Amino acid sequence: MVTLEGVKRHYRVGGQEVHALAGVDIAVPQGQFAAIVGPSGSGKSTLLNILGCLDRPDGGRYCLDDTDVSTFDDERASDFRNRRIGFVFQSFHLLPRLSVLENVLLPRRFAQTTQDDAELEERAHALLSRMGLAERLDHRPGQLSGGQMQRVAIARALLMKPALLLADEPTGNLDSKSAADVLELIDEVHGQGQTIIMVTHDSDVAMHAERQIRLRDGRVEHDSAA
Ligand code: ADP
Ligand code: MG
Repeated sequence: MVTLEGVKRHYRVGGQEVHALAGVDIAVPQGQFAAIVGPSGSGKSTLLNILGCLDRPDGGRYCLDDTDVSTFDDERASDFRNRRIGFVFQSFHLLPRLSVLENVLLPRRFAQTTQDDAELEERAHALLSRMGLAERLDHRPGQLSGGQMQRVAIARALLMKPALLLADEPTGNLDSKSAADVLELIDEVHGQGQTIIMVTHDSDVAMHAERQIRLRDGRVEHDSAA
């Protein structure tokens, strides 16, 4: 369960205050797939950074599964992020010198985890099989298509069984066929109970989600669940 209450974030740009988020209230129940849409400058990236514990609100509260993360210092925020949040980006963010399997196992390096290595490796294999990449474990990202790279990134994002999967324009760099495949995969991950929040400017992509939340000028302008 994701709860944002009166979340604000402002920037000061040369004497001027920009209210990137001007008081946002959103509750996303466990297992929901929600899309955040809105024009450029409406606050989508600012919101995603806060949801991903990469940034903190300067007003209001953000709770993820009963943990108030808005008060965390940088170290606690990054530990929480590594263990509880999965990210999928438009440009994949895979490390080119690592194999597909090593990329998927990367979160293990950063998370202070008590899970043993064999268990995580088994999970990485299972995720990659599910993504149709079982034969590609030793390949480098550069040997894959865009759609395959995004599937590797999704497997990596799911490795630690995150409470929340965040996707930032996950199909933005893909041709329409690969985009459709990746959306189908995200639907499938959602079908297995994963909570997902996806930012997109593409209304067709947003319609894949159960719920569409539209931002404008740092506020929720429309929420299909409201
Ligand atoms: P979106 O992702 O919807 O395009 P952003 O969250 O990036 O919107 O930006 C929201 C508003 O905050 C915009 O007016 C933008 O110019 C401003 N903004 C975002 N990040 C910064 C920053 N680091 N410094 C100053 N202003 C920023
Ligand atoms: Mg943005």
